[in-house]
Parts: sequence; structure tokens; C-alpha cells
Amino acid sequence: MFEIEKIRGDFPILTQQVYGKQLAYLDNAATTQKPQSVIDAISHYYECDNSNVHRGVHALSERATAEYEGARKIIAAFFNARSEREVIFTRGTTEAINLIATSWGSANIKAGDEILITHMEHHSNIVPWQMLCERTGAVLKVAPINDDGELIIEAFDELLSERTKLVGAVHMSNALGTINPIADIIRKAHAVGAKTLIDGAQAAAHLAVDVQALDVDFYVTSAHKMYGPTGIGVVIGKENILAAMPPYQGGGDMIRMVTFEKSEYNDLPYKFEAGTPHISGAIGFGKAIEYIENIGFDAIGKREKELLAYATAKAEAFEGLRQIGTAKEKACVLSFVLDSVHPHDLGTIVDREGVAIRAGHHCAMPVMQFFKVPATARASFSVYNTESEIDALFAALKTAQDIFA
Ligand code: PMP
Repeated sequence: MFEIEKIRGDFPILTQQVYGKQLAYLDNAATTQKPQSVIDAISHYYECDNSNVHRGVHALSERATAEYEGARKIIAAFFNARSEREVIFTRGTTEAINLIATSWGSANIKAGDEILITHMEHHSNIVPWQMLCERTGAVLKVAPINDDGELIIEAFDELLSERTKLVGAVHMSNALGTINPIADIIRKAHAVGAKTLIDGAQAAAHLAVDVQALDVDFYVTSAHKMYGPTGIGVVIGKENILAAMPPYQGGGDMIRMVTFEKSEYNDLPYKFEAGTPHISGAIGFGKAIEYIENIGFDAIGKREKELLAYATAKAEAFEGLRQIGTAKEKACVLSFVLDSVHPHDLGTIVDREGVAIRAGHHCAMPVMQFFKVPATARASFSVYNTESEIDALFAALKTAQDIFA
């Protein structure tokens, strides 16, 4: 059974007041809050086991290594990777995409090749491909979206060709909430021989992801959007593709043998993990996944749908509010503009009422350009949010509207 009070009790940060008002944290697409179990796991590591991994022969190092590699196992199982060798730790989604664009891109992309992305990508799934295209003379193609913020599949099909070497698509848009039909996208990309990268930064906390069922080549995400710590994320990649890729960074841990003439690289996944990793981050990530698993995606999905439906009904009834992003397949994000108040002013006024939302371009400037707005206000929900927090948001919006009337 879904017990909201118990879930809220797991997140110590939520009980606080800001400006004398009860905090309503509705900025989960930017980052989620962390349950006590994640905080405790990180503290425990530093209090009891802190040591470098893979190197020491002493007890602490063995414990740290076991915890770090244990987290990799948890992550591999969660995404149904074929083995732990397919799980590469990175600093987050951004570094994960840069790793693929740099390493896989340098080995596989040449002048005239095409990379196909969508118009709703986060900057982190645009700029690394632009940089790759600049280096190689490849061409970046962009599949358009419609007025609801959905991918236009027919246009995507037309842009896809034998020249397409990689298709990059966001699983769930942070700016619009749109959930893309990634299984179709992957199947179509493979039919022309292209590889696929799915940006799961938003989706992974809300939807079950099975990389084998999807047959995706690279799935990337960040722990901090999944109740885990910042500074850690993953590439889940197919082993045969990762094994054929050159290293991303050189240094300790990613080698088997070094001489001044030549170095031999380590096996997967270590080949892509140069230097001392974010050990406590990985441990916290593993705990965050256990937290999600304990609630379960059925309960999470059901609850988050209720919250989105509740917020959407309020938004539709709110005079002068225009929603940005009205896709049929959508999750947990309410992006909008008000006739009379700039999103940045809105963010500030709403904050004074204790409600944390985000105002800006959400690192998706092309989405703002498409909808002809400089920015949107965005409320994004998570499993610990409540209807009364959404009520607080709409009361605060009314206050802002009255101030600017
Ligand atoms: N893609 C999407 C869809 C995102 O929402 C984000 C984070 N806002 C990113 C990529 C980048 O993630 P990170 O900043 O954790 O690297």
C-alpha cells in the first residue's frame, strides 16, 4: 500500500519551512531529494569504510571495493544489463553523453555521416554531437516536434537513412514531460544500421527501463534525479560496442600495463573509469535504487499520474495560464507561462510562498524557441509530493497574478 506519510518521513529535508512557510518542493526534474537511507549509506561509508577502491590490500579498501562494486551490481540488475561490465560510472548524464560522443564518435563517425536527434533534447544531448560534427564533418539532423511537444514520427522516419550513424533521443523531456516512444525509435534506428543513445536523466526515476528488451546501445542517466547523490551517473552500454571503443580518459585504473612506449588498457568497465571514482556516490546511487525498488514502479507510476492529473486539471482551470507540453504520453512535469507574469518573477514570488519551482529555459533552448517563449515556469512532481503542495503552488500563482494585475 502507498503510504504518503511514511514516504515523506523518509526525506528529512521536506519538513522544513522557508520564509516561514511550509516547503513545497516541486523542482524534482532539476534534482530529487534524498531519503535517509541514501544519506546514511554515504555517512556510513565515510565513517567506517573510507578508502580507495581496487588498489589496497587492507580491510578498508576491500570493504570500499565491495560496496562500490556492489552498487554496480544493483544498477546492472535494475536496468537489466547483461552484466556489470556494461555499467560504466560517470559524473552524470552529461559526462555519459560526452563519453559516447568522444569515444564512440571518434572511432565511428566521419565526414558526411549523420547524427539524428530530436527537437526536445536537453543541451547535453545536443552540444556534444555538435562538437563531434565540428571535429569530423558529420551532419546533425533534428527531428521536429508538434504543438503538443510530441515527436513527429513521420518526419523522424524521413530524416532517418543509411547515412544516420547514431540516433540520440530523450526518454522523457525535462522541459515538457513528453515520454518518447523509445522502443520504436530504437527499432527504426537499428533498421538503418544506426546506433542508439537514450537520455534517461528524467525517465529513470519514473519508468522501469529494461535495456535488453529495448535493445538500446547506450542508456544514460544521473543518480541525483533518482533520489541519489549528485556527481554520479552511468552509461549502460552493450558490451561488444564498449569493448571496441577507445578509452575516454587516460590515467590510473583504466590500464592493465604501462610503459613509456605503450599502455595496455583494462577490461570493461574499468577501461572507462580513469582515476579515483566517486565511491560514496556510487554507494549512494545503489541505495537510491533500492529505495525505488522498495516502493516499486507500479506504485510510483500510479501516484505520479494522480499528481500530474490533479495539477493539469488545476492548470486548465487557471485563467491566463498556457501549458507548454501537452503530450498524450507525459509524466510529472507541468511547464507553463502566465499571460501577465514573466516566469522569472513568478519563480521568485512563488518561492516566497514556500513553493520551489524552476523558471528558465531548462537547458532546452530549442524547445523555448519552438514555443516562442523566453522561458517557462516548471513544476515537477515526485513520489513524495502531495495534492496540498499543488494547491500551494496554485495559490502562489494567484498571488503573483494579483501583484502584477
Ligand atoms: N538530460 C535531461 C533530460 C535532463 O533533464 C538533464 C538534467 N537536467 C540532463 C540531461 C543532464 O543531466 P546532468 O546535469 O545530471 O548531467
